[in-house]
Amino acid sequence: MEERKVTMDKIINLCKNRGFVFPGSEIYGGFANTWDFGPVGVELENNIKKAWWKRFVQESPNTYGVDASILMNPRVWEASGHAQGFSDPKMDCKSCKQRFRADNLIEEYSKGTVAAEGMTNEQMEAYIEEHKIKCPHCGNHNWTPIRQFKLMFETSRGTVEGEKDVVYLRPETCQGEYVNFLNVQRTTRAKVPFAIAQIGKSFRNEITPGNFLFRTIEFEQMELQCFCRDENAFDQYADYKKQALKFAEDLGLNGERLRFHDHDKLAFYAKAACDIQYKFPIGWEELNGIHHRSTHDLSRHSEYSGKNMFYLDPVTNEKFIPTVIEYSIGVGRLALALLCEAYDEETLENGETRVVLHLNPAIAPYKVAILPLQKNLSEKAKEVYALLSKEFMCDYDEAGSIGKRYRREDEIGTPFCVTIDFDTLEDQTVTIRDRDTMQQIRLPISELTSYIAKATKF
Ligand code: ATP
Repeated sequence: MEERKVTMDKIINLCKNRGFVFPGSEIYGGFANTWDFGPVGVELENNIKKAWWKRFVQESPNTYGVDASILMNPRVWEASGHAQGFSDPKMDCKSCKQRFRADNLIEEYSKGTVAAEGMTNEQMEAYIEEHKIKCPHCGNHNWTPIRQFKLMFETSRGTVEGEKDVVYLRPETCQGEYVNFLNVQRTTRAKVPFAIAQIGKSFRNEITPGNFLFRTIEFEQMELQCFCRDENAFDQYADYKKQALKFAEDLGLNGERLRFHDHDKLAFYAKAACDIQYKFPIGWEELNGIHHRSTHDLSRHSEYSGKNMFYLDPVTNEKFIPTVIEYSIGVGRLALALLCEAYDEETLENGETRVVLHLNPAIAPYKVAILPLQKNLSEKAKEVYALLSKEFMCDYDEAGSIGKRYRREDEIGTPFCVTIDFDTLEDQTVTIRDRDTMQQIRLPISELTSYIAKATKF
């Protein structure tokens, strides 16, 4: 496959300079691993979410959406195991100040022959000392003791000082589906297999965040939980693997840069788990996860809430706790993959380089830019803007040479540019330029809406 010109630095710079993504709280020196989506970035994000919802909710008759609270009853996190277990044993290298998980150090050193999962902190420290395990970054053996690192952000609820209850910012959205399983099933009369989907924010006090949008401490997840009979669960799992891959490809990711990766180590309750990995400029990394979670989630919530999380089959009268298949993907991580995939630097006939984002038109921030050839055509151009902006996000630009304006639109991936010239005033036609081919055709204004709608549909 052709060598790509994209690097993470180029993407970060383009995002910052063209209004996709800015460092969080930048005027205060930033706030590490938080990012703010700017005017173009928020459109990209919204379009990705709309495409996902259309595919997995609107076009999936057995999937129902919810939008659950970020703050949940703290018992939820006891049932899910996060309150007890969602913390990692971490050690810092005193020489280079890098932070690592002690269990990962042991497993990598022993090439997976030692299962660190079952060890206490003291046993892990003793093993690392005995084998003089070195820092993978600087090669020294100079560790701090292990400290448990809490991955859930805590806040408190209560109006009287000293009488506050700890509440957590959710580290995953899926618990919102599990706790609403009975409500959704009752109100929709859904029959298994059915799924509950959600898009929302999650928060994780990650040990090693970084790589721009890849791993942040606050991020949005698009995910669904499919409730099914246990005997059908592996078929559902295989089906979601296929659907997840197809969605990634349809959105614009090159199939040669996508692959399945089965997990070697499964959570004790899981029957299967795999990621779809994408070849980011930093290497092959997880894009999304698909998990066979057995009946674990609903069983735990039955136990902790005291409510029976059963499904009653209306035909056979059988009662059972459904098995869950989960598909989950981060909006920011997917946006990063799509930006990397779309980025190109092309050499033009005149020797100049144009930077262009070949984004799928359906997710491009602006569908069309309206560019009057000269300032005194702006009245007509604004008329066209008013017409098209009823249907699409449009950009409007009358500053600088037309060549420069095309370049600016190419860099943010706008699939079409419409130029208004003096002929427009005479015959109500415009020139429409295609971002990818740079070909231009003449169209009546009255045909623009249907032409652009057709080309930007997902
Ligand atoms: P990873 O192994 O990368 O930490 P995970 O296995 O913990 O991810 P899940 O809990 O399965 O991830 O979350 C599902 C999806 O949410 C991931 O595939 C990824 O797209 C996204 N995601 C998870 N953590 C983050 C994060 N810190 N920042 C951005 N996106 C994330």
